[in-house]
Amino acid sequence: MTPFELLEPQTLPEALALLSDDDAGIRPIGGGTALMLMMKAAVLAPTRLVSLRGLQGTLGSIAMTADGALHLGGLASLSALEHSALVAQHAPVITRAMTHLSNVRVRNVATVGGALAHADPHMDLPPVLAALDARVQIAGPLGTRELTIDELISGYYETALKRNEIITGVQIPASAGRAAGRCAAYLKCTTRAADDWPALGVAVSFLYSNRTISDARVVIGAATDRPTRARAAEALLSQSMGDATTLQKAGDALAAEVQFTTDAQGSAAYKRQLARVHLGRAVNAALAQT
Ligand SMILES: Cc1cc2nc3c(=O)[nH]c(=O)nc-3n(C[C@H](O)[C@H](O)[C@H](O)COP(=O)(O)OP(=O)(O)OC[C@H]3O[C@@H](n4cnc5c(N)ncnc54)[C@H](O)[C@@H]3O)c2cc1C
Repeated sequence: MTPFELLEPQTLPEALALLSDDDAGIRPIGGGTALMLMMKAAVLAPTRLVSLRGLQGTLGSIAMTADGALHLGGLASLSALEHSALVAQHAPVITRAMTHLSNVRVRNVATVGGALAHADPHMDLPPVLAALDARVQIAGPLGTRELTIDELISGYYETALKRNEIITGVQIPASAGRAAGRCAAYLKCTTRAADDWPALGVAVSFLYSNRTISDARVVIGAATDRPTRARAAEALLSQSMGDATTLQKAGDALAAEVQFTTDAQGSAAYKRQLARVHLGRAVNAALAQT
């Protein structure tokens, strides 16, 4: 590995001051689970790493806000999400997704901010958060801004983040919570172990009352170059009863509308067929929680 400088700021302003939008050699590091592998593989050779570990005290919390949103700190570990009673209560789909995300060693150190900024299309958390209409909170030298997951992840390993910005948190609105009647499920389809990298991830969320689905959100991960909403499938599911005929039509619509990609986990044709079948299974898994 190329030698690099490691800096360990203790506050957000200090960390921001150490980053630079002009220098691609300077990067923030959260848990390091993705970044260190990329450095060992010589994909990245940063000259300076700005460790965010010192900010865990201030940016690692998980809490409810006054308006009923769930706040996940950008430095919260994935294990903290997995074991949080607030997450289990407000967004149990996240709790369940965490149990199959890699292994406990990775979850113990990987952070929410790193899981979003890395933008590997196979990551499990981004499609789940997109289905929950989450907003990503970002701090930079000029202040703060918020982006949806769709706005944040702009392509294959690409984000809208500037080099001198830090993800400080994620907010899942009250309207996406269990208390608001929203059901959600995430199905991870792997070709090997259940906690391996997925060939397909399907996240769904919707409101359900009087046996009718409304405001459905369907987000595909791992089979596309970035988390992708399937709006035709969403339209078919919304105002339906989630019956078998609708699920089949929605699966067909999803297979037709999404641009699937081939990778080490399977061909585009294989992933298209997985998606066609698993959308209905994901909707049924969400309905089973009502
Ligand atoms: C063996 C293994 C198996 C895995 N399996 C899965 C899996 O099944 N599913 C899955 O979803 N993921 C999986 N992962 C990926 C894992 O989820 C990511 O490595 C992890 O989420 C990245 O978080 P981190 O805090 O370690 O990020 P880091 O490695 O520290 O950083 C990753 C990137 O994000 C940037 N960054 C980090 N924090 C911030 C921040 N707060 N603001 C702005 N930029 C930031 C860094 O500069 C870097 O570019 C696996 C990883 C490993 C090593």
